[in-house]
Amino acid sequence: MSANTASSLAQQIHQRAIELSSRYKKAEADLLETLEQVDRHRVYLKHGHASLFLYVVRELRLSEGVAYILISVARKSREVPELKELIANGSMTLSNARRITPVITAGNKTEWLEKATTLSQRQLEKEVAKVRPKSSTTEQASYVTGDRLKLEIGLFEKDLLALRRVQDLLSQARGRAVSLEETIATMTEAHLKRFDPVRRAKRQIAKKGTALVAPTGKLDSSQVPAKRTQRSPLPANLQHQVRLRDQGRCTYTPKNGKRCNQSRWIEVHHKIPVSEGGKDTLENLTTYCSAHHDWTHSKDSERTAQHATLSLLGESGRTG
Ligand SMILES: [Zn+2]
Ligand SMILES: [Zn+2]
Repeated sequence: MSANTASSLAQQIHQRAIELSSRYKKAEADLLETLEQVDRHRVYLKHGHASLFLYVVRELRLSEGVAYILISVARKSREVPELKELIANGSMTLSNARRITPVITAGNKTEWLEKATTLSQRQLEKEVAKVRPKSSTTEQASYVTGDRLKLEIGLFEKDLLALRRVQDLLSQARGRAVSLEETIATMTEAHLKRFDPVRRAKRQIAKKGTALVAPTGKLDSSQVPAKRTQRSPLPANLQHQVRLRDQGRCTYTPKNGKRCNQSRWIEVHHKIPVSEGGKDTLENLTTYCSAHHDWTHSKDSERTAQHATLSLLGESGRTG
């Protein structure tokens, strides 16, 4: 190969790399734009995902780290549209845009856009940490062996001191030095024992059996307001059974059959609304995450314009 041909080949490869990286930046900006629409129209709920994050990870098959970055920047772009534009034309990297999302606002954007396009990554992190000490540390867990992980979290000094205090008390109680790991595991177990609705359900049912209290905590007729805008909470035993059966997770399942399974913000839902004669029975109750719950009711209210008054507090969360 002559020197000439070699240099022309190198030039071609170089041109190709430049072209692709410019398309890559454009694609990032287009994806931000589209995710913003997915978010606004809550397209993820229809596909069975409780959040935009889960949609990006499970449906679009992007990594959790990338999903986190894209979503932070897409949401911030509503307030500061320049972020998207600067990413599209290559003046700002997506990760630098992500670094400034906790601090940039429509009011101070000139200052932060300038910093994010001129400073090095390290300098930029330092500037953000000055005004937002909390956002300078991200939480992550990574595997070190098959079943052990390394956990990284940021902590204020006062919280570390409190954690050390628990560690001291625990060491005292056990008569030996206890590690931070054991301290955290013990606190976690104590919290779950006390507050996890699925565990509470198991305990209660083991204690009292599954015998149902009368199908509904009906109000005495003298207490029933003329227009019923309130319901009494579901009997605790019934709530326990629903939570145990559904394992404290969202049961919303779209046409593709993949259940949402979200385990956070769980609420009890009546499949047939009480306003349409639905009863407080195990069969008519299910658990939804709050996103699918709200969404289901907003669809219902499109259908029957009279569903708005239902929202009541049960023993451990909203029901409806
Ligand atoms: Zn859900
Ligand atoms: Zn409901």
